[in-house]
Amino acid sequence: MPTPSLTFRGEPMRMIYLDHAAAMPINPGVLEFAKRYLQSDFGNPSSLYSAGLEAKRIIEDARKKIAELINAENETCIVFTSGATESNNLAIKGTALRNIGKGKKVVASAIEHISVLNPMKELQKSGFELTIIPVDSTGIVDIEELDDSLTKDTTVTSIMYANNEIGTIEPIKEISEIVHEKGLYLHVDATAAAGRLPVDVQNDGIDLLTLSSNDMYGPQGAGALYIKPGVRLQSILPGGGQERGLRSGTENVFAIAGMGEAARIAKDEMAQESKRLRGIRDGLISEILKVEESYLTGHPTQRLPHHASFRFSRIEGESILLNMDMKYNVQVSTGSACTSRMLEPSHVLIAIGLKHEEAHGSMVLTLGRSNEVEEIPIITKAIKETVQRLRELTPL
Ligand code: PMP
Repeated sequence: MPTPSLTFRGEPMRMIYLDHAAAMPINPGVLEFAKRYLQSDFGNPSSLYSAGLEAKRIIEDARKKIAELINAENETCIVFTSGATESNNLAIKGTALRNIGKGKKVVASAIEHISVLNPMKELQKSGFELTIIPVDSTGIVDIEELDDSLTKDTTVTSIMYANNEIGTIEPIKEISEIVHEKGLYLHVDATAAAGRLPVDVQNDGIDLLTLSSNDMYGPQGAGALYIKPGVRLQSILPGGGQERGLRSGTENVFAIAGMGEAARIAKDEMAQESKRLRGIRDGLISEILKVEESYLTGHPTQRLPHHASFRFSRIEGESILLNMDMKYNVQVSTGSACTSRMLEPSHVLIAIGLKHEEAHGSMVLTLGRSNEVEEIPIITKAIKETVQRLRELTPL
């Protein structure tokens, strides 16, 4: 996929984009497939005339493609939302409130995305008990602690498939066995993993699964929640009763049609593309770790194929990001874009045991379709020079 061509002092300059966890360019094939639902086929899926029926048809087509990507029992297990944040909110609040008769306890790992932790904290304010499960220094959830924490009054347990800031992949199958032994529900946020790892809700034993369109090269503004047959939820957005009454509001037909097509493409291309990205990732990791006092964050092997995350001592991640952008036209991240305006260090890096000053020196690279193996020396040179310059300037 071509990257935006820029010029610097009159010379053509290629931007290297390394923050696919924050936003992804829409796949041109997806745009081609879905654009007519913005332009000509703009009917409301609830309308009974043919324009409405076409909109309804394409939504059902997308539902089927998403069910196939994650091996859902059938397409009725998929509910469309506006994105991963809404899916996480629906999964957590919807399950906790509908099953309040069972108990008032919710459980999450310490490295969940804030769109999981914050709805749980809201439930806590209204009288639920919230238990946070620690992780080890690589980000793997403490299985024994999880086992000890689950009781029959736990309504929902949320553990992510893979972490967006440190790339660590959780042992979801093992976790689901523990949760199911106690007859409880497991919610899994697969925003960072879907389209890169072969997520299989039946084989992995997942009751609720969050997906995001844009994280699979689909349009922004759509997400989905998989709900296993038999799992009961309460709507958190009442209105016209769309999406089986679980998510009211006129559907975002363009984004949903695009998400379906993005899921179909991801299913076809995932194995090959993940292998390609893994090669670039490993090349970057081995080169970047040659920088003095640089460390990999997250798991060394159980990590997302497109994900490389580091910390550098004695410098600030924000300075790395700005320097890499302005001087080299390389876009990197310091962690989650969703919390980038907060001054506090990332809760994920603190949970893996870093001190505040260590957590401030983080840099996250998430690769995608536009990245090429030829970029490795350009990126590593930019990082080496940046780190050296910033260290020369630092009073630390
Ligand atoms: N979960 C994870 C793991 C994420 O990385 C993100 C952000 N991409 C979200 C949830 C929230 O996604 P959104 O802001 O698109 O709703």
